[in-house]
Amino acid sequence: MSYFRDNIEAMAGYVPGEQPTAPDVIKLNTNENPYPPSPRALEAIAAITPDQLRRYPHPMGNAFRDAAASQFHVTRDHVLCGNGMDDILNLTVRAFSGPEAALVYPSPTYTLYAVLASIQASVVREVAWPLGSDLPVDGLIKAKGNVTYLANPNAPTGTLVPREEVERLADGLNGVLCIDEAYVDFAKADCMELARTRPNVLVMRTMSKGYSLAGMRFGFAIGDPDLITGLIKVKDSYNVDAVAIAAATAALKDQSYFQETRAKVIAERERTAGRLSELGMPSLPSQSNFLFCQPPNPPGAAGVYESLKARGILVRYFNCPGLDDRLRVTIGKPKQNDALIAAVSELIP
Ligand SMILES: *Cc1c(COP(=O)(O)O)cnc(C)c1O
Repeated sequence: MSYFRDNIEAMAGYVPGEQPTAPDVIKLNTNENPYPPSPRALEAIAAITPDQLRRYPHPMGNAFRDAAASQFHVTRDHVLCGNGMDDILNLTVRAFSGPEAALVYPSPTYTLYAVLASIQASVVREVAWPLGSDLPVDGLIKAKGNVTYLANPNAPTGTLVPREEVERLADGLNGVLCIDEAYVDFAKADCMELARTRPNVLVMRTMSKGYSLAGMRFGFAIGDPDLITGLIKVKDSYNVDAVAIAAATAALKDQSYFQETRAKVIAERERTAGRLSELGMPSLPSQSNFLFCQPPNPPGAAGVYESLKARGILVRYFNCPGLDDRLRVTIGKPKQNDALIAAVSELIP
């Protein structure tokens, strides 16, 4: 017998990428930014006062909301802060999906959507999205979700759906469209305009990837104030802490530092993709900070993963049907990417 609700008993939890404790591992497995966060963010953390810790934080994180409003040309009422974007995803799944309200997403995509839907005992409709093909916009519309999720750029493929296609999806849906832009900081285009102009679109962002604050936990959503007001009812009273609000606000305001690190990651992405492809390990066209590579077989994705690991280079291998012939490789600093390239050149005959 189990104390858990049937859907919890039946589900498998989310499996995060490994966080090794050995200091010299070249860690290219969880899409962290290889560069440190903005010095302004570190200063903001150092400037936290005892009173800021003694008191509860602002319940809405208004300092950050104001910075985001100015950055993205919306009002404060369009912005919702979260304890990482995963918190925002959790809020939207709880608010928009359930046993009578279908949650829809194209597959493969970020596996957390399915996990959160299971917790909610939500109806789920997955729409097949074969690797490398166009987004199945019509299929997603026909699936009639109360809420539809689209990661753009997608995970784990790294590819970007053009804005016009996302717009067609948003306008064809009766329900809410949640656009997960976790990797958009490394892309050539985004869909923020849809969050400004469509009543049913939420654009969700994170400070973990483009702003190097994965350890801090800060994400946000931008959308119509009516959507934001509804989501506020579902959130924890103090879902973002004082230190995270201060650091995220300072990091977002430091756009010149952001542009600098972003450009370095993008340049390395193009260089690394080119070299790996020459070595026989091509990847889908990436607009993110990682490459979804296809190693030749032999040695195969699992073989390359194990051999890289033995050399102290950690990448992500998804041991599941449809993805198990690929490796997801985070873009690191030039020397780390060089080590990867050198290892791959020895592993692939
Ligand atoms: C990293 C990631 C997130 C969430 O990031 P947080 O660290 O929780 O802010 C959301 N979606 C995708 C696709 C991601 O890769």
